[in-house]
Amino acid sequence: MTKTAAELAEALAAGEVTSVELTQAHLDRIASVDGDADAGVHAFLHVDAEGALAEAAASDARRAAGAPLSALDGVPIAVKDVLTTIGQPTTCGSKILEGWIPPYDATVVQRLKAAGLPILGKTNMDEFAMGSSTEHSAYGPTRNPWNLDKIPGGSGGGSAAAVAAFEAPLALGTDTGGSIRQPGAVTGTVGVKPTYGSISRYGLVAMANSLDQVGPVTRTVLDAALLHEIVGGHDPLDSTSIEAPVGELAEAARQGALGDMTGLRVGVIKELSGEGYQAGVEAKFREALDLLVAAGAEVVEVSCPNFEHALAAYYVIMPCEASSNLAKFDAMRYGLRVLPEGVAAPSAEEVMRASRDAGFGDEVKRRIILGTYALSSGYYDAYYGQAQKVRTLIQRDFDAAFADVDVLVSPTSPVTAFALGEKLDDPIAMYLNDLATIPANLAGVPGISVPAGVADEDGLPVGFQILAPAMADDRLYRVGAAVEALVTKQLGGPLLGLDKLDARLEAEGAAEVAR
Ligand code: GLN
Repeated sequence: MTKTAAELAEALAAGEVTSVELTQAHLDRIASVDGDADAGVHAFLHVDAEGALAEAAASDARRAAGAPLSALDGVPIAVKDVLTTIGQPTTCGSKILEGWIPPYDATVVQRLKAAGLPILGKTNMDEFAMGSSTEHSAYGPTRNPWNLDKIPGGSGGGSAAAVAAFEAPLALGTDTGGSIRQPGAVTGTVGVKPTYGSISRYGLVAMANSLDQVGPVTRTVLDAALLHEIVGGHDPLDSTSIEAPVGELAEAARQGALGDMTGLRVGVIKELSGEGYQAGVEAKFREALDLLVAAGAEVVEVSCPNFEHALAAYYVIMPCEASSNLAKFDAMRYGLRVLPEGVAAPSAEEVMRASRDAGFGDEVKRRIILGTYALSSGYYDAYYGQAQKVRTLIQRDFDAAFADVDVLVSPTSPVTAFALGEKLDDPIAMYLNDLATIPANLAGVPGISVPAGVADEDGLPVGFQILAPAMADDRLYRVGAAVEALVTKQLGGPLLGLDKLDARLEAEGAAEVAR
């Protein structure tokens, strides 16, 4: 478990280990550190030991028979519980889908299976991917492996924590406004939001279709690239899927790791620093930037004036799309059905009302109300129409910036992991965590978060965000791998280590930790 996915793939190829052994080791690790809603990391909502071991045995058999294998064949993975899986529950972190077993696999899940990656289980998340801390899960929060009293980010805190806690070498997440990158930043893992349309959304339970994107959650940039190549590429089942290959992403990561950034033009986004950004976050961001300069990159400051309005536009567009998407949870076709109390023969509408009241949490209800209001007659132009215009302005800021530079950079999250409960009753404080990640979703451009070290004041991880033009995802991997290599060299080793982590988990009262 100390190895990266790429190294595990090599160990499998060399016959040093079997996929069954590897999968069992991760299942043991999950049993040891994951705990439940009350204690432990609680990254998983569902663990599929039997299914994962069967897939692992099939991979071992294919290898023994000399059949063709994928680059990550036999390496286990965890999947965010917003992606449909045949035979495994898919709850989206909501009570309204408790017990639902989808009759189909998401395209990305299908591709994982075709590539021989055993699926360990489904990871915890904020309900319907709304949140930045995973505290909005109806099944209790995930805890940050760096400090079990802190949030692991959200909405994909389960995937990030699983990878950070060495419960899985790889995971899939989804990012609508930062849900892969921000959890990556606060757990010291790598998170990628690919170009919109470059990875299929078929089988991703939609929160906001025009913003949602599936992406890799890993401990290294190369692992993310290898996973991206497996799940990415055109899918006829997704009408927004781009008909183009994903490109040579792993090759870009390998080149980048050599650390020569001569000729690279890096733009620091002026609007994404300063007020509201924690001192230690800024400091680590600037140090990583200096490393890029030392490696030959040219750094300039770039202004994207409309980014100031990104958060406001997002919190109109996102609830509008979500209110429409969540209308399908009506208790008539699948999921929770609650009968209203004291009504002898309730109407369909009364059942829907009782079910939606019981099935949705507060944050989901807040957004359904906001979205329904903003889309209603008379307000549509004033809110939704206006937000869409802001979206265009943000896209133009990106276009103008990328005319001058190859990549844009910023801190991923303005702060390190905060305490569980700290922002739960303050939606605006929660929303502000996505200040730096949301512009990429509004414009459809790709972004990556790479660990930049730990903040001096609290010893918690800081993420370095890199953004590239649409369809230039390879640049994320090239520059991301360089940052990773340079930071790792400076730190004298990777940020995440099994020894360090286990010492922390044990100190914090986790039961004896299995290795
Ligand atoms: N935290 C943001 C929100 O609450 C983004 C969520 C996401 O990317 N799924 O909407």
